[in-house]
Amino acid sequence: MKTPVLPNMMPKLQKLFEDELRNIFSAEIALLNTMSKMMEDASSRSLKSALLEHLFETKGQVSRIERIFAQLGKRPMIGICEAIERLISDANQMMAYSDPGAIKDAGIIIIAQKIEHYEIASYGTLRNFAFTLGFKEAESMLEETLSEEKAADQKLTEIAVSEVNVDAAIELEEIVN
Ligand code: FE
Ligand code: ZN
Ligand code: FE
Repeated sequence: MKTPVLPNMMPKLQKLFEDELRNIFSAEIALLNTMSKMMEDASSRSLKSALLEHLFETKGQVSRIERIFAQLGKRPMIGICEAIERLISDANQMMAYSDPGAIKDAGIIIIAQKIEHYEIASYGTLRNFAFTLGFKEAESMLEETLSEEKAADQKLTEIAVSEVNVDAAIELEEIVN
């Protein structure tokens, strides 16, 4: 089924919607690399598999954004999301200077959760814009992505509390003694 190009009824809000969508698009593309590096560097099996699962989801999120742009009759352009670039460089630095283990995993989780929260804020706003603009399909696609980001964040909390932080506490004690 061919999707009709949506009418431009609220040009200023639509422009803001498109700009924000480009920002998160750039962020998601940049995150594909970082997430696979985080996954490789993680020691915890559950952390590795959570990151792998979210990596697959992220690919789907990228194609949802491409579909939204197609519905608007626009091309998604890849730019730079400065906020995410900053978190990516924090991640790279942390991963380069710490040895594999629970402390490093805890560090990976800190940055991964900051990333998820940025995404949750962006997709929440984008979904609300789509609602106001009357872009129903975009709204439901953005809602789907938003739930994935929230679930990813929750999963990371679970892994941290039930496993990684506990192991990290023991690891710290071994260094102290
Ligand atoms: Fe995402
Ligand atoms: Zn994501
Ligand atoms: Fe995410």
